[in-house]
Amino acid sequence: MALDPELQRAVAARVRYFRDLGIFDFYRRGEPIAGAESSNVIVAATDAPPALFENFQDMARVVPPVPVIPASALVAPEDRANALQLIREEIGDCTRCPLSATRNKIVFGDGDPNARLLFVGEGPGADEDAQGLPFVGRGGQLLNNMINAMGLKREEVYIANIVKCRPPQNRVPEPIEANTCTPFLFQQIGVVRPEVIVALGSTAATYLLGGVKSPLSALRGRIHEALSTKLIITYHPAFLLRDPSQKKEAWKDLQMAMKELGLKAKRVES
Ligand code: URA
Repeated sequence: MALDPELQRAVAARVRYFRDLGIFDFYRRGEPIAGAESSNVIVAATDAPPALFENFQDMARVVPPVPVIPASALVAPEDRANALQLIREEIGDCTRCPLSATRNKIVFGDGDPNARLLFVGEGPGADEDAQGLPFVGRGGQLLNNMINAMGLKREEVYIANIVKCRPPQNRVPEPIEANTCTPFLFQQIGVVRPEVIVALGSTAATYLLGGVKSPLSALRGRIHEALSTKLIITYHPAFLLRDPSQKKEAWKDLQMAMKELGLKAKRVES
């Protein structure tokens, strides 16, 4: 039976809310529907080795390991802008994944090539897709406030996303899209060499942790490692816009990043 549109929107909003908290799996009470067990399975990175997959689609769902960046791969600070430009040129007018069919602009990433702090979001929304820059919409305004509260200017950090092209209707990127795009993000991080990466939301956390799908509550509050760099995980600004009561929790995460960077807080209006 089809749900009426209003109920459908309410259910979608609720599912998104839980997803932002890093809760992905929902179970239906009562008798299982015949065949449902096999129809909608998300294969986690650790569920099975690639040899067991029956087809390319299943393989594409597996998040590849996040590379370790050797110290010898250091790009000299004065060469980082050029190195980032080379990665942008390598991406070109990308058609490597299905998102290229519906995007307007590729959102490469933006900021100081020598930033000490690097934020990773999920993927461009409508404003970003139109302008070709990350976090320029409402969520971006909140992210700017968060950055300022940390005592930094937006131009002093680097901002990028798991995918560089807007997913239609701002849906979560499919694993094949994210897995196609993240090697470029990882190269960018390898060039910038931030001291701290902040993952904004569960999509960024999942792919930076090489496929770990845990509730954000289990990932926040401690320092992880990704790409040989300290990784701190917090809520996505879009989630904080929907549930401002969680801003104080996000602030705790940012304070952890500030401690690592030796930064002092600045009071700004949120
Ligand atoms: N949300 C994201 O995850 N990234 C952006 O660049 C904008 C909104």
